[in-house]
Amino acid sequence: MPRKTLYNVGALLAGLGVTFKYMFQKKPTIQYPSEKKKHAPRFHGLHELRRYADGKERCIGCELCSSVCPANAITVIGAENSPENRLSPGERHAARYEIDELRCIFCGMCEEACPTDAIVLTPRFEMSDLRRGSLIYAKDRLLVPPEAGVGAAPDDRPNGIPADLGRVAEIKSTDDWQKGYDATFRGTVLKTQKKGLAES
Ligand code: SF4
Ligand code: SF4
Repeated sequence: MPRKTLYNVGALLAGLGVTFKYMFQKKPTIQYPSEKKKHAPRFHGLHELRRYADGKERCIGCELCSSVCPANAITVIGAENSPENRLSPGERHAARYEIDELRCIFCGMCEEACPTDAIVLTPRFEMSDLRRGSLIYAKDRLLVPPEAGVGAAPDDRPNGIPADLGRVAEIKSTDDWQKGYDATFRGTVLKTQKKGLAES
């Protein structure tokens, strides 16, 4: 038998050896979405705009998040607060706030830049859709409702240190998808509505 043919048979057997080796190992495939894997601690997922416990919006429309975003994914248009319409503790609030999640690279720089801990990246990762437009998240989908606000009112914070950083850290550091959904308002809604989420 020619030497080249022998070499090919050897390569074929070596390839089959790899197949047989993996044939008897535990399968890495999981039955998503009824089964989910833990994700990495400090996983960066879908954004959420938070409020203070008194219901006021944390966002003061400063546009810092928009300025630092390397993907140019954030649009903020600020507006002045008025005594009749005070939405945030500062002089301004975000009249319009949008994040294009298709552009976003989930780097977390918006969260780092935010002076009021208004924008946070949650552990939620399920946001696929067939329409591109629906992946532009406007304020109505990013902002938690008033009753979901957490933390002390800004006037009560000693030295301006947010009183609820522990909860933010908890939300961000969980590697348990169930806990991640529980920790965010929209995630809890999705779980309640059981949109593709299995009970476990
Ligand atoms: S996570 Fe990064 S890319 Fe995404 S919106 Fe924030 S700054 Fe922009
Ligand atoms: S989310 Fe934070 S950084 Fe962005 S505009 Fe609001 S307050 Fe400023």
